[in-house]
Amino acid sequence: MTHRPTLIIGNWKMNKTIAEAESFLSSLSLSIKQCTSEVGLAVPFTMISVANKAVSGTKIRIGAQNVSSYEQGAYTGEISCAMLKDAGASFTLIGHSERRRHFHEDDKIVNAKILRCLEWSIQPIVCVGETSEEHQAGMTHEVLERQIINGMRGLTQDQIKGLVLAYEPVWAIGTNQAATPDIVEKTHAFCRSVLAKKWGNPAAEKVLIQYGGSVTAANAADLLNQPDVDGLLVGGASLTWESFSKILLARN
Ligand code: PEP
Repeated sequence: MTHRPTLIIGNWKMNKTIAEAESFLSSLSLSIKQCTSEVGLAVPFTMISVANKAVSGTKIRIGAQNVSSYEQGAYTGEISCAMLKDAGASFTLIGHSERRRHFHEDDKIVNAKILRCLEWSIQPIVCVGETSEEHQAGMTHEVLERQIINGMRGLTQDQIKGLVLAYEPVWAIGTNQAATPDIVEKTHAFCRSVLAKKWGNPAAEKVLIQYGGSVTAANAADLLNQPDVDGLLVGGASLTWESFSKILLARN
């Protein structure tokens, strides 16, 4: 079995002021010295630069929650890859279900954003996942296959090797109803098989697949102990440094 690192990312969504971010980061950087996972925080655009300075010398990486697919120009309100780099972001979430649902981002837009990030060496963390209706209708595999194949269209085997995929069933996000470790493991194995069919087994084996959806300190270790779970994407429980550090240390 390929050894893959574990990557745990907090997604702050539209929360926190700069002062709150600084206070969180100084507490977290002290508390995570024993954490063996790679750690990232997807913060609001306004605090990327400050957060990046605050984590200097620690293992915490700072990223964004979204990026424009356009290079530059007359796109009022958008933030480009160049701007993310300039501010110090090393990764960005792409295709989070809240962006798909509230801002009508489809697989084509997701694909354009991924390709733009790769041009700029910003690591895309690509979110996929079925809605509750799709889950109940037994369409999970069909939805995930479509999101993976269309979202990753045009990527080379080498680019796939560096990919981080976050499986986030929409019905588990912010609901306190995390998917069971068994469901997560089977679904991650399915996602890996889709990648293997299209890009070959060696590339698929390198992809980090995170789980996201109501992760807490209580369920983190069980989820991380599954062989195809290579990390976690954490929303609500990443908002206080106390609960996020417990998740980071859950498997120690
Ligand atoms: C998320 O929004 O990416 C997420 C997983 O949220 P939560 O952990 O709050 O369910």
